[in-house]
Amino acid sequence: MFEVIPIPAFRDNYIWLLRQGKSALVVDPGDAAPVLATLDRLGLTLRAILVTHHHADHQGGVGELAARCGAEVFGPAAESITALTRPLAGGETIRPLAGAGDADDPDFAVLAVPGHTRGHLAYYRKGLLFCGDTLFGAGCGRLFEGTPAQMAASLDRLAALPGDTAVHCAHEYTEQNLRFALAVEPDNPLLRRRVETVAALRARGLPSVPSTLAEERATNPFLRCREPAVIAAARIRAPDAADPVTVFAALRAWRNGF
Ligand code: ZN
Ligand code: FE
Repeated sequence: MFEVIPIPAFRDNYIWLLRQGKSALVVDPGDAAPVLATLDRLGLTLRAILVTHHHADHQGGVGELAARCGAEVFGPAAESITALTRPLAGGETIRPLAGAGDADDPDFAVLAVPGHTRGHLAYYRKGLLFCGDTLFGAGCGRLFEGTPAQMAASLDRLAALPGDTAVHCAHEYTEQNLRFALAVEPDNPLLRRRVETVAALRARGLPSVPSTLAEERATNPFLRCREPAVIAAARIRAPDAADPVTVFAALRAWRNGF
């Protein structure tokens, strides 16, 4: 088994560090310095870097970390990723800590989740999801390169994972997202409860993530495009919204201007 440690970076990014014995991997190291400090503090060796997509806040530290630590770099073949050694398309199973000397080497399934970017990947292992800027706490990423149909399909794919999956997204956006979620579904009791829980965590300076997929399915409007209340709210902005993709598109457009 291994431990998952959030490393805050920039204003609101999380770099996720997975530790197994004295070996570590990191997901989306936008900055090398806080990762190096954490490795040093815990006495860990960095074996692997997983990158979800090409944006600088997710891969800005890859070059330095790879050069200093000799770690393998896994990431989307379809995007420009610094020092990429293991190009992925989605559909693979990877063992990023194989050879680290532990019997329990984690296997990850690589999921293609286009939408935020064209080649965006998510990494999944039983109980753990690392989804970059695709699924956020109570929200989802902006559509920079993909279509609403692609993003809706990617979110459907993630939403189908087991409910107890811990959702490790790359940003602390949950509070802002919950304000929007409440505008969409003011009468959702689980959503109201989540607003209180997250406010209490943030008031103590604690991360609001990871959440669980069950929580996201119950409170994240972008995973609820088949709910009558969400469809009705989307139609106020976009009267033609009907199927899950057009409802998703209407919500995303509404959120962009929220
Ligand atoms: Zn991004
Ligand atoms: Fe980002």
